[in-house]
Amino acid sequence: MAARAGVSLPVLPRRGFVLVTEPLPPRVRHKVYAADYVADVASDSAGLQTSPVVEGTPAGPVLIGASRERVGFDRTVSLPALRALAAGATRLFPFLAGVRAMRSYAGFRPYLPDHLPAIGPDPRAPGLLHACGHEGAGIGLATGTGHLIAQALTGRAPDLDLTPFRPDRFPEEAA
Ligand SMILES: Cc1cc2nc3c(=O)[nH]c(=O)nc-3n(C[C@H](O)[C@H](O)[C@H](O)COP(=O)(O)OP(=O)(O)OC[C@H]3O[C@@H](n4cnc5c(N)ncnc54)[C@H](O)[C@@H]3O)c2cc1C
Repeated sequence: MAARAGVSLPVLPRRGFVLVTEPLPPRVRHKVYAADYVADVASDSAGLQTSPVVEGTPAGPVLIGASRERVGFDRTVSLPALRALAAGATRLFPFLAGVRAMRSYAGFRPYLPDHLPAIGPDPRAPGLLHACGHEGAGIGLATGTGHLIAQALTGRAPDLDLTPFRPDRFPEEAA
């Protein structure tokens, strides 16, 4: 979209799989994740990284994440990634070893090279505002980003200094 407006913004995909179990009686009552999740989020490695995140749902299935890898927009199911997710989850919750996985799904986290999103007006294209590149936190951060964009659109001062999120902070890509 940025390119259509004549500017560059290097948003790239970071693939992630989630494994979904059969419905279970409530046993995982809180989202539980291993501490290495934080290091994985910040890592610049292109290879497969997995750190267990296990979350129950009101409907019963348990969601098991999280893998991260930079493989472009490849949606092919990756058995090594799913195996690593299952192994990590059973280390946290051994009872999951006897539970069936119903399905898996993949998505792409949109990331920028410094792991920060782009939020706000683009000085290179007056009238263009960005709200993208939130990587693995875009759902949680949506209300905050929406609030900052609303302030920018209505000409108010942002509640947060937008300098770290400037859309023009990366070198221009060669056309
Ligand atoms: C496995 C996984 C787990 C995650 N877990 C969490 C979590 O626990 N908490 C959290 O906060 N976030 C999580 N995220 C991250 C979150 O999903 C993203 O940060 C968020 O979806 C990004 O929102 P977005 O609107 O910027 O981009 P997207 O959700 O990617 O939306 C972009 C939209 O633009 C459309 N589009 C693309 N090109 C065009 C075009 N040319 N014209 C028109 N439309 C176009 C696409 O179809 C898409 O609908 C997770 C992501 C993954 C993959």
